[in-house]
Amino acid sequence: MSSALKEQLPKLSKIASTQSISDVIKHLCEEFPGKVIFSTSFSYEDQAIAHEILSNKLPVKIFTLDTGRLFPETYSVWSRTNEFYETNIQAYYPQHPAVEEYVTVKGPNAFYASVENRKECCHIRKVEPLQRALKGNAVWITGLRAEHSPERKGLELFEWDETNNIIKYNPLLHWNTEETIAFIHKFNIPYNPLHDKGFVSIGCAPCTRAIRAGEDFRAGRWWWEDNSKKECGLHAKQ
Ligand code: SF4
Repeated sequence: MSSALKEQLPKLSKIASTQSISDVIKHLCEEFPGKVIFSTSFSYEDQAIAHEILSNKLPVKIFTLDTGRLFPETYSVWSRTNEFYETNIQAYYPQHPAVEEYVTVKGPNAFYASVENRKECCHIRKVEPLQRALKGNAVWITGLRAEHSPERKGLELFEWDETNNIIKYNPLLHWNTEETIAFIHKFNIPYNPLHDKGFVSIGCAPCTRAIRAGEDFRAGRWWWEDNSKKECGLHAKQ
């Protein structure tokens, strides 16, 4: 199955170079019926993609990872998105025995104490639920943009994700911040109000802060850590 999927990459990349995002997603849904999935964190990028999917009624499964530590504003935009598009975004939660043991043994804010603790928390609350959500699917649509980090500049529109055995489609890879925000406003798409307060990449509340002028996009995530260690494992290569 994996090698058959991998072989599709050149063909899909060619299609993506000439077709609109919604046409590419439509093609993916026809090629892999019931096996196209989109993960949203309700960022600007993810809201733009959700709009393409939901306003065109494309049969893509949409899910979010509720870590249990999200901002109230994120729950609010999640709720407004459900209402706006008359949909029900699927929620994935961590396995409660793992969270209970971690928090009991290490404490509720143990992620500040070491990179190991932080990665363990991210694994329990994000990576394991993500793997469960992706399992059995063929294509994972993401909101990654090249502008977000030097590592993401090397990505392609279509990639092979070895860890999750899935094709990854990054439709907004080459969009810049201005055009992403303009798209949100053009269609009156609900968005997270934290973006207006300097938050760029919005994850869990204890691990995300607003960034200052001139700071890197990822500076607001796990700001107490060394830059080279700042990924949560959702996007293994990036
Ligand atoms: Fe835990 Fe912070 Fe990772 Fe969220 S971002 S899963 S709170 S360490």
